[in-house]
Amino acid sequence: MPAEPGPVRHVLVLGGTTEARRLAEALEAAPYRVTTSLAGRVGAPVLPPGETRIGGFGGPDGLAAWIRAHGISHLVDATHPFAERMSFNAARAAALSGIPLLALRRPGWAAGPGDDWHFTDSLAGAAALLPGLGERVFLTTGRMGLHHFAHLTEPWFLVRSVDAPGPPAPPRLEVLLARGPFTLDDERQLLARHRIDVLVTKDSGGCATAPKLTAAREAGIPVVVVRRPPVPAGVAEAASVEAARDWLATHPT
Ligand code: NAP
Repeated sequence: MPAEPGPVRHVLVLGGTTEARRLAEALEAAPYRVTTSLAGRVGAPVLPPGETRIGGFGGPDGLAAWIRAHGISHLVDATHPFAERMSFNAARAAALSGIPLLALRRPGWAAGPGDDWHFTDSLAGAAALLPGLGERVFLTTGRMGLHHFAHLTEPWFLVRSVDAPGPPAPPRLEVLLARGPFTLDDERQLLARHRIDVLVTKDSGGCATAPKLTAAREAGIPVVVVRRPPVPAGVAEAASVEAARDWLATHPT
């Protein structure tokens, strides 16, 4: 007699990243049912396979209620390393609903020989560092925190984001609407074409946007790196999609 199939496990992936999409792809086959949740910030998101839902849950209590109402058995926080609030909400909601939680977090970037990196803890800190470092800024920290740079009237900014930023913004500004991944050649050409002399980035990690760091090193351009925010204590972590899939396989309910 063939063995009875086990129960389908319903995984809720908190998404908004390439890793979240890749995890949904990796779990497409049984015994998983996958629902990916997106915040709804991006106008035309690239949707993963499986089910999707869009919009906030209403804090950790709302997320815990949603988990219970939809029979979620496992929660994976695959949000961006800078989505600080959602990671804390996930930890609280998993505790409230008594289901296992995994944080899928790509490792941060590390400076190598030839890099001229200047670390700071916040976008406001990055803005404070800029006047001493350059006059033509490539700002790759996303459209949401642009207001932190709005008071800087001297430097010229090239802002790259998926959707157009709104005010307040620095007065000397060009917007480049683009979605990664970006190639090293693209980044080299972009730095040269716009005569960029300083780059600002979050320590997002991953491959999709790392070539800008290589291009900056080659061009001898300083990089302002915003450190990652804190993460909730006591949450299991996986650094790759494969490790997350293994964790799920070894954590039946
Ligand atoms: P955040 O500050 O940590 O979260 C703010 C609120 O947005 C949360 O309290 C939650 O609302 C809602 N939210 C966030 N992620 C959600 C998700 N995956 N599904 C449903 N609701 C979500 O997050 P953020 O920095 O604004 O980022 C929003 C989304 O963009 C995240 O999904 C993240 O993965 C993605 N993203 C962020 C960055 C970045 O630099 N921050 C970069 C690339 C992509 P409720 O409390 O109402 O549930």
